[in-house]
Amino acid sequence: MTTAAVTGRLAEVFRSIQGEGLLMGRRQVFVRLAGCHVGCRYCDTEWAFADIADVAVPNARGERVSNPMTVDDVLALVEASDPMVPGAPTTSVSITGGEPLEQAEFVAALAAALAAALAPRDVMLETAALDAEALRLVAPHCRWLSCDIKLPSSTGRADALDLHEAVFADGVLAASSPVFKLVVDGTTPRAEIERAAQLVSTHHPDAPVFLQPVTPMGGSPAIGTEALEAMVDVLLAAGLDVRVIPQVHKMLKVR
Ligand code: SF4
Repeated sequence: MTTAAVTGRLAEVFRSIQGEGLLMGRRQVFVRLAGCHVGCRYCDTEWAFADIADVAVPNARGERVSNPMTVDDVLALVEASDPMVPGAPTTSVSITGGEPLEQAEFVAALAAALAAALAPRDVMLETAALDAEALRLVAPHCRWLSCDIKLPSSTGRADALDLHEAVFADGVLAASSPVFKLVVDGTTPRAEIERAAQLVSTHHPDAPVFLQPVTPMGGSPAIGTEALEAMVDVLLAAGLDVRVIPQVHKMLKVR
């Protein structure tokens, strides 16, 4: 199948400051894929699950690109968001969601095209990392894999950590230096943090783990310092490189 034949559904493309994880503070172009079936109760992008007809071109002319769109359509949106400056390094691209792995074939083609463009752009995949087969397609084209560890208490999915264990044990992440993010609040059970710590320390012991307190909103309790410190203790005891970082883009009031 040619790159032109595979299409994807997008929610938005824009340039902003990365507010989470390893590249926090870096300027990036965000390519947000539409759709997700994970069901996190702290989700702040549920609007992106709707049937989105088109995406605004980041210019002053009010143009829009219809869904589904081709890889070339998205490359043009990325360039419109962040025009290449001759002689300057290109801005990296975060492919996010929604859950990008639900459109894995398209995301793989897009990431490969971004990395191979005339002015190549490094790609970071932001994913729930619950699907090893989809990761096998996409991961080789990404410089960074930012993998959430979804907890049963956050998603209502009792098997969430079992699914992560299957992906970790598969080894599909191993070649791509993954980093992990755990979103927590005051109700996150200690046992879930302990299991997550055990999974990461067993399969990816050198990977940074970003502990991210939920930004308070609709029904997600904030977390106190004592509870957060207790979670840090658990992760450190497992020998992990844990870093506590809130959602900085919300503090900066950028998208
Ligand atoms: S995986 Fe991401 S997009 Fe999907 S429900 Fe969870 S936070 Fe929202």
